[in-house]
Formats: sequence, C-alpha cells, structure tokens
Amino acid sequence: MIPFRLLMMIAQALAEPTSASSHQSLVLVRGEGFRPELKEVELQDLSSDLRFDGKYFKIVKGVDEVPILLNDSDPELRLKAGTVYYHLSLARQFWVQHLSSEFVKSLPPLVIRLEMTRAFSDLAHYQHEGVTPEYNNALSIPPGEPMEGVGGDPWGNEIWFRPKKQIFTRDLPGSGLSSSGNPISAYLQALTRPIKDSVASRLIQITLQQWFHPATLVTPYRNQVLQQVGTLALGSLILKGSRYLDSWFLEKYYYLDTAMIPEIIYHEFSHIALSDQLKLTLSTPVLEGLADYFATAISGNPEIASNIRQYSLSMPKDGRNPIRYDPAFETLYYSNSDFVLSTLWRVRDLFPEHADSLILKARLRLSTARSDIRHDLIRALLETCRDGCQAPRADRLRLMQSFEEKGF
Ligand SMILES: [Zn+2]
Repeated sequence: MIPFRLLMMIAQALAEPTSASSHQSLVLVRGEGFRPELKEVELQDLSSDLRFDGKYFKIVKGVDEVPILLNDSDPELRLKAGTVYYHLSLARQFWVQHLSSEFVKSLPPLVIRLEMTRAFSDLAHYQHEGVTPEYNNALSIPPGEPMEGVGGDPWGNEIWFRPKKQIFTRDLPGSGLSSSGNPISAYLQALTRPIKDSVASRLIQITLQQWFHPATLVTPYRNQVLQQVGTLALGSLILKGSRYLDSWFLEKYYYLDTAMIPEIIYHEFSHIALSDQLKLTLSTPVLEGLADYFATAISGNPEIASNIRQYSLSMPKDGRNPIRYDPAFETLYYSNSDFVLSTLWRVRDLFPEHADSLILKARLRLSTARSDIRHDLIRALLETCRDGCQAPRADRLRLMQSFEEKGF
C-alpha cells in the first residue's frame, strides 16, 4: 500500500509544473541603426510563475535574496529585470552553444542585483549602508564567503547593476579639451585617439572615473580596480545610440542606466564566462578588451563591428593608418580604451569562422594579474594559432602581419 503522505506528494508533484516555464515580458533591444526599442519577448527557463527566478539567473533588487515579482508594481523595475534576464539568456546561449563552454554550462544560477548601491566587500559580500553608495556602473563579482565573525552566507558569482544617478554636467571636472558642446563626447573621442598628452589623458580618466564611479576617488584602491564597467570601449557607440534616446544622456546631466544597455550586460556576463581562467579580482586592459570582444560578438551588431573597424583603421581617407600600439595602453588608466578590442576584432576579420574559439582558447595562456598586451596577449594568440589554426604557418603569418600593422 502506498502511504497517504507519499500519495499527497505525488499529487502535489503532478500539480506543479515540472518543466521550466516562460513569461511574456517587455524588454529593451537594439533596433535598426542601433536605436533602442521596446519589444515583447518570451522569457525562457523560468523556474517560477511569479518571479524573475530562472534556471540560470535570479534577478533581485538591491540586497534582497527573493527575486523580483514578474508583475512588480514598479514598471521601470519590471522592464529592467526583463531586459537583464533576456540579454543574459542570449549571452549564456552564445557561450554554451556557439563556444561550447563547459564552464558556463556548469555555472550555478547567477544572482543579478539591480539598483544595487552597496560597495563590494570580499570580506562581507557588500559593505554596510553607511558607506558611500555607488551609481552609474555595473560590475561582476567573484564567489566568496564572509570572513569569520562577520556573519552572513557564502555567495556565488553575481552581477551588480548600479542605479543611474544624474550628475550635473557642471559638476564634472573641466578638461580643457573642449569649451563647448557635449563634454562627455569630447572625452570619449579623446580616449579613442592614441595617447600623447599625459596631462590631458589623466584629466579624462579622472572625469570618466567620476562619471562611471563617483566613489572611486574616496574608496581604497582594492575596490577601485575591481571589475569596473569597462565598456567605455563601446562608449562611443552608446553615445551614438544616445542621439536617438536622449533620456540616457541629456545635455545638462549625465547618467548611465547600465541594466538597460545590452552591450554592458553581455560584457559583464563575459567576465564571468572567462573567469575559469581570468579571475574577477582585477580590471586590466587585456581583461576589459576580451570582455568587450565577446560582448561585441554576442551583440552581432554590424554597427558596432563597423565602428570598431573604422576606429581600428583610424580616420584618414586611405583607411590604412591603424591606431598603433603605445605603451600607455598597458596602464590601468587605459583599461577602457578600444585598443585591445580593435586588435582582437582584426583577428575576427581575418578568421571569421574561428576567431571566437581561437581567442577563447588563448585565455588559457593568460593570467589575470600579469598579462600585458604587447607580450602576453600577442604571444598567446600566436601560440594558440600554432596549435589550433587550420593552416598554422600561413595563418600565423597573417596574424603577425595584422599585429605589425597595429604597431607591435
Ligand atoms: Zn569589465
């Protein structure tokens, strides 16, 4: 005879949906010409009918542990949660299907925090509320556990999206680069030029740090270098997009709603996907460039690709004057420059079919803290090609020629 309790359990199990459910949700996507537009999509792999609680992603608000309700009363929060869930699912699909990443396949569900203002703490997960709140940024955090005596539970990989906060243009430090027009636009333009004037570039950096990470200047260095948004390499594009959606960049204020920018969502997920080898403890030009590369590949957006190509070849009419290597690109200050991204994108133009897996394999020859562009990244790519390209000798020659054109 089957015990009554067991019968009840079976009845309950039959009543509950056994497979993952889906939910119709409004999300922000890139439309034609890179314009952001709203679209109804089906969110897949939800484990709940009530909340943004999925097989792979749990979207929570701030320090909450319970995921956001699918029908939360705040439409903006709902839109953000849907947008983040949708684009993270696309990013995961790219890593699992296109790149066959066993590491990404094996990841436990990621906790995604929206509107998270607390500073990260590797000793306690996040700092208490009194510490300077953070805005206009996104970051990926490594798994960890609280230091003895601190209390709280261990945590896994997470992605945090800071709330946007309007900063008055007049409060941004002056750069002396441009006396009129949109100052951020001038900074971004300056950033994508080869760096010659170190005084000007230092000013650009201070400004950008304030813009993306206002607390940087008062927090300890350890926090400062932890995975910052990094997508300034795509910043010029975001700015281009902003021409169509002025609510992101107004004339008088600047702010960045990172949870609403697909490329930033892909970038942060790519940091985590790369973290089997490249740990999330530092932000370096090589790491940011790799995350930008995969973010761009995931987006599949021809506008971004052509922008990078244009940048890579610089502006002159003959189109044969690529931005060349400058030792300054190795410094932390330029971890947001487009240089690594454009170098990697040339590899993709050379080998459209194989570049993604070649570049992913090259990560195994890199380390988070020690790898530079000139020696380590270039060598990693050439060595990976030696062992894995279809025509190792000829392909390596083509790679070397491309790197020479970039000034290596
Ligand atoms: Zn980054």
